[in-house]
Amino acid sequence: VRITRISERSVRLRAGVANAVVNFSQHTVSLVAVHTDALVDGRPVVGLAFDSIGRFAQGGILRDRMIPRVLGADPDDLVDADGWLSPAKLLARAMTDEKPGGHGDRAAAAAALELAAWDAVAKAREEPAYRTIARHFGRTAASPDVPVYAAGGYYYPGADDQELRRELRSYAEHGYRAFKIKIGGAALATDLRRIETAIEAAGDGAALSVDANGRLDRDAALAYAAALAPYGLRWFEEPGDPLDFALNQDVIGAFAGPVATGENLFSHADVRNLLRHGGLRPRRDILQMDAGLSYGITEYARMIDEVEAQGFDWAWMYPHGGHLLNLHIVAALGLGGCEAYPGVFQPFGGFATEELARPGFARPGESPGFGLEDKAALRPEIAELLAATPDPSTSRAGRR
Ligand SMILES: [Mg+2]
Repeated sequence: VRITRISERSVRLRAGVANAVVNFSQHTVSLVAVHTDALVDGRPVVGLAFDSIGRFAQGGILRDRMIPRVLGADPDDLVDADGWLSPAKLLARAMTDEKPGGHGDRAAAAAALELAAWDAVAKAREEPAYRTIARHFGRTAASPDVPVYAAGGYYYPGADDQELRRELRSYAEHGYRAFKIKIGGAALATDLRRIETAIEAAGDGAALSVDANGRLDRDAALAYAAALAPYGLRWFEEPGDPLDFALNQDVIGAFAGPVATGENLFSHADVRNLLRHGGLRPRRDILQMDAGLSYGITEYARMIDEVEAQGFDWAWMYPHGGHLLNLHIVAALGLGGCEAYPGVFQPFGGFATEELARPGFARPGESPGFGLEDKAALRPEIAELLAATPDPSTSRAGRR
């Protein structure tokens, strides 16, 4: 399999929502297509992916650094022993001349490319991506059903508790049994009122997680930890700065319930440090690293190695993101579960269908690859990306 061209474009999120730190109305996502010479039913296979949600599109890094490196490689250096496109080799090539450390925006750019390579391989093999990924990592995806929870409860402009109650009830009507809302963007008393409203809608504190998005300083995080303790919540997510491992340790010391973090760590070295210094407790606290933000599945597998080496369990890994890419990854690797954004962060949030396979569980489709083409909101964006790449001689043709 040879890559014939690579195209990318920035797609704006349709999201008028905010968490404690970020207003998403200006956010973008990089949609990437890796065109190959592999043929299925006489048509060239095109691998598609995007760089998760929440870290903006990375068109500059893709166009100026990574895509030219990959296209400049000897095609034989990008395939595995069986002749399939190798996502790991593509990633290594994309990272040529990049220094170690400082894993920021480039981790998301590289992830979109690496994940598009997985999509291409799965399509060339005419199977859903979760099967390709499971086989590669020696897993048997016994059941592709993935436990999911509905992440929402953002700070919508003008929204009140009534709105929050309506939102969570609508998730419950769609079959969700666990929920997450944002905290830390209002006064503690206001947030506690929102939490009580959400628990009422969720039916039980154990069905509700809360996410501060790294907003709280040490004193505020400890104040929230004390105030949250009586509710018996499912977990308390990112109390403070995601790289302040000592703060994380202090919160865990003051909070008996599960603490979740990791979505803003983009390398296995960062995960190693979190596990060494963040106070996390195996089989209690939740790890949320997201392959779409962190160099793709190749680096995510290194993170899993680190998780295992430090005595933690895959079943406590719940990737951030709430999209089809992670649904396949969680199904393939048998991780604990997956975030879901039903109706939020379109066209990338949520899965191919709003329908769950059964209450509390989503199942990836059986279309080849990640099945992004099965998601109605994404189809026009994909069509525009593919239509805008007429010239195989340059990777820049795909720009909008
Ligand atoms: Mg979060």
